[in-house]
Amino acid sequence: MRQGLTFDDVLLVPKRSPVRSRRDVSTATRLSRRISLNIPIVSANMDTVTESAMAIAMARAGGIGIIHRFMPIERQAAEVARVKRSEGYVVEHPYTVSPDTLVRDVRRLMQEYDTGGILVVDEENHLLGIITTRDLLFLEDDQLRARDVMTPRERLVTAAPGTTLEEAKRILWQHRIEKLPLVTPDNTVVGLITAKDIVNREKFPLATKDAKGRLRVGAAIGVRPGFLRRAEALLEAGADVLVVDIAHGHSDNCIDAVKALRRHFGEDVEIIAGNVATAAGTADLIDAGVDAVKVGIGPGSICVTRVVTGFGVPQITAIQECARVARDAGIPIIADGGIRNSGDLVKALAAGASSVMVGSLLAGTTESPGRVVIRNGRRYKIVRGMASLTANIDRQRVTDEVRETGQEIDWEKVVPEGVEAVVPYRGNVSEVLEQLVGGLRSGLSYGGAFTIEELWDNAEFIQITPAGLFESRPHDVEPLG
Ligand code: IMP
Repeated sequence: MRQGLTFDDVLLVPKRSPVRSRRDVSTATRLSRRISLNIPIVSANMDTVTESAMAIAMARAGGIGIIHRFMPIERQAAEVARVKRSEGYVVEHPYTVSPDTLVRDVRRLMQEYDTGGILVVDEENHLLGIITTRDLLFLEDDQLRARDVMTPRERLVTAAPGTTLEEAKRILWQHRIEKLPLVTPDNTVVGLITAKDIVNREKFPLATKDAKGRLRVGAAIGVRPGFLRRAEALLEAGADVLVVDIAHGHSDNCIDAVKALRRHFGEDVEIIAGNVATAAGTADLIDAGVDAVKVGIGPGSICVTRVVTGFGVPQITAIQECARVARDAGIPIIADGGIRNSGDLVKALAAGASSVMVGSLLAGTTESPGRVVIRNGRRYKIVRGMASLTANIDRQRVTDEVRETGQEIDWEKVVPEGVEAVVPYRGNVSEVLEQLVGGLRSGLSYGGAFTIEELWDNAEFIQITPAGLFESRPHDVEPLG
């Protein structure tokens, strides 16, 4: 029988290091064949982890978020669109309203779109005015219409299509304004440059962006009937990568789905699939045409797959075996599940992963869906496995799955492979990521590596005993707090 090892079974042996400062190392990596990241962290496609707010925060920090699929197609597409719209060099299709729109509705739309300004246009998309939050601040008469409160066209500063960011910056400053509509000579709106986007560009220099300067985002799909329709809507909304995510990714279902996606959407669409835990699974997904393989059967914090089915591979062994095959093919591995701290992150990368997917550790942040709950005076957030009982029930309620698949669920027979739990509230995503990335920078230095690829080459694992694990943690002292 082979032996399988996981995070707590191993440590990395320190190497002579040419790294003089943690600042000199690079945490850049590849998510998939054509998508690069500045930090190797992906937020999990779970309904207690990633919707648009998380995806925006992840991409700003240099990672990426994968929007979960446990909602109707239109809602998932809207979440993707929200990320794509959140910033960019130019907003290509700015939100607009007609001059007859009630102020009440303008207010609602601005809240819904999370935008501080909305353009007023006629039916041919000619610019008539702009309404910003300031115009509505102390306005009490909700019966007024857009035309009554907008700053009219003649008082607006606009610019021509093709205006560079530097020019835009100068114009915004000169007129002390925050929004610059781009209009053609016949006054048709073709874009919008906002001060916020320019500020964000400077504030988040590591952000994961597409060619148009928009934040990148991924979206999960399944393999049940209807998945092509979902994929189409997500791509239409601007998803940069599709993640075919099912519990047993080394299955004909998953392989057929990847092939169907390739046939349908061609080579340009970026496809990740999983989860697998073996070299054979990795090879089969690569043969089917994926751009990255997601690895992990059973390591997740909320996962009971191994208890329920008896199947799984301890995660460090799984990553090593999958990475061997994937590296030869030039395809990145995403190590999914079981990451509890930066040490685990470094070990997963050293074992051959290009990035890690993180669930629970991010579920406790402000940006995850759901509210903070108070228990015994402490703040928590909820996390749940996507194969848990409540997630299954909710999924049937909120998605079109029954209609799409024609299959009714017999609740008595559902065997959950995940649990519901609470995790401590941890503040903003950026704070959690800072700790993880700080630990990774140190880890690279201990490994004598300037890059993650160098870490792969230098890594030497050592297997430890329970005594070694005991020694690895604070011991024989009474930790404060
Ligand atoms: P975590 O970072 O340890 O919380 O692991 C997150 C990962 O667990 C996800 O990205 C999924 O791969 C996996 N996962 C999510 N829900 C379930 C479930 O219900 N059963 C088994 N695995 C799950």
